[in-house]
Amino acid sequence: MSAAATALPFAHASVRRVSGSLVEAAPLPAVSLYELVAVGERALLGEVVRTDGEVATLQVYEDTQGLRVGEPVVPTGQPLVARLGPGLLGCVLDGVGRPLRSIAASGDIFVRPGARAETLDPDKQWRFEARLRSGDPVREGDVLGVVEERPGFEHRILVPPGVRGVLAEIASRSATVDQVVARLADGSPLTLSQSWPVRKPRPFAERLAAERPFVTGQRVFDLLFPVAEGGTVALPGGFGTGKTVVEQALAKFGDADVVVFVGCGERGNEIAEVLDEFPALEDPRTGRALMERTVLVVNTSNMPVAAREASIYLGMTIGEYYRDMGYRVAVMADSVSRWAEALRELGARLQEMPGEEGYPTYLANRMGRFFERAGRVAAAGSPEREGALTFIGSVSPPGGDLSEPVTQAALRVAGAMWALDAGLAQKRVFPAVDLELSYTLFVNEVSAWMAAESGEGWLDLRRRVLGLLQQERELEDIAALIGRDALQDRERFVLDGATLFREVVLQQNAFNPVDATSSLPKTHALARLTLGAYEAGAGALERGRRLESIPLQALRAALLRLRHAPEQSWRESAASVEQQIARLGQAPAEEQP
Ligand code: ADP
Repeated sequence: MSAAATALPFAHASVRRVSGSLVEAAPLPAVSLYELVAVGERALLGEVVRTDGEVATLQVYEDTQGLRVGEPVVPTGQPLVARLGPGLLGCVLDGVGRPLRSIAASGDIFVRPGARAETLDPDKQWRFEARLRSGDPVREGDVLGVVEERPGFEHRILVPPGVRGVLAEIASRSATVDQVVARLADGSPLTLSQSWPVRKPRPFAERLAAERPFVTGQRVFDLLFPVAEGGTVALPGGFGTGKTVVEQALAKFGDADVVVFVGCGERGNEIAEVLDEFPALEDPRTGRALMERTVLVVNTSNMPVAAREASIYLGMTIGEYYRDMGYRVAVMADSVSRWAEALRELGARLQEMPGEEGYPTYLANRMGRFFERAGRVAAAGSPEREGALTFIGSVSPPGGDLSEPVTQAALRVAGAMWALDAGLAQKRVFPAVDLELSYTLFVNEVSAWMAAESGEGWLDLRRRVLGLLQQERELEDIAALIGRDALQDRERFVLDGATLFREVVLQQNAFNPVDATSSLPKTHALARLTLGAYEAGAGALERGRRLESIPLQALRAALLRLRHAPEQSWRESAASVEQQIARLGQAPAEEQP
């Protein structure tokens, strides 16, 4: 964040009215919407949200307590920007981009109002390796050179959007984020860092069609409700349904180069949880801290709603920046509901006409605009790079009621929904995914990739599994009316098969080191064999075997052994299950008594 209060043409503007985080100031005849202003003696950070003649309404990101009418207001001439450059990975930032490093050290969770802190460490030296030479023409997005941001992680230094020319000088050297590493013929300096207004999507060359999935390592999602890389997911669920566990699992095991986690929680303990838990997570790829490829954006509990509203844009901008380098980025927001509530609160203070349940009428539109920032793209500039930003936003519908406006708005713009169910969570069925409500629109896009990477016939396997689960629901309805005992053996076996599938394949224990993640081939094998066991049993039943004599329990035990076999050795377990199924398939009908 840079908000140097430099411009002074309206030095006489002052506070006229204070209402929570909203402040009216005048005279400010020439400020523009979303321009940053320094408010009051403490120079609190604020943003222009409305202008009316000389009067500007400001949304202040910090506690306005003690702010008095008459205190000075100074426009800065620029919007809220994110500072982008090496050193972002591992950062914990507040909603406007100030690092909470110092706070973690002091054990204090508050940033002093008006405090200015550079997002990027201004003193740290980086080794810049130039990739271009003087005399080379450059345009936006070109890779000037690279910096090793973390061991093995190449941070590509890009020509900022809108900049083009011919390189007059460039050199490999050690530099801080603010030092000049190259200069254009017209004298413009290029540094290791750049700024970008958070509310504006960063430019790219071309939007690319989705084709590969964002692999989650969670069987129920990868098999039944996959999301394409560059897609968006809404993750609604009431309190305690497992949203946080899912998001942490995605951060850990999801196949992304960089993770940006935005905690726009409201209550202090939600933030404290994120700050406690995330830094303790281990990256299964490297064995080192997950934070090495993560950026956390969290709001400290003394920051007003306005900062909460802004934090999601900061997260998106950081995600886009790494996408532009050619990386696959996952941005997660917990939760979109808190962002929407912030929007509602601000709308109410601005006395706007409220829509459903008090949310502003432009809720869905605004939400759509940041969901649209997800995508798979060809980055601007050379060398050619493809990057993707996948967005997963949890939604916390009050009382778990999915018909409420925020969930509905999210569903309108998300490409997939993973709905979590309180009833299942209560029964300790995890992940507590509601198999009937959840959906994905990405099946066609990812099916070729899935068939190649996870196993042949992926599409058909998925269809058969969904068919079995659908039959189960229909039979459960009937059983509820006439009783389970009145069902035929064939029908009861459908219920047994569906139960087996849900327990063995779809449930996954996030706290078991082996089970916490599942590779695509293993998920595929487990699903294929579990369904195979059911189908072989159903075949035997058709041929006249008695329901009781079908060894479903033995198969279940063998399948669970497969599920809990580590990645290196599960194929042996799979082979033995395969044999058992084959025997069941060949077993002759028993003699009738
Ligand atoms: P939420 O964020 O929706 O309020 P949490 O993510 O905190 O809910 O989950 C609540 C509890 O549910 C967790 O503390 C954990 O005990 C249990 N849980 C959720 N998901 C799983 C899972 N996949 N495996 C095992 N336990 C889980």
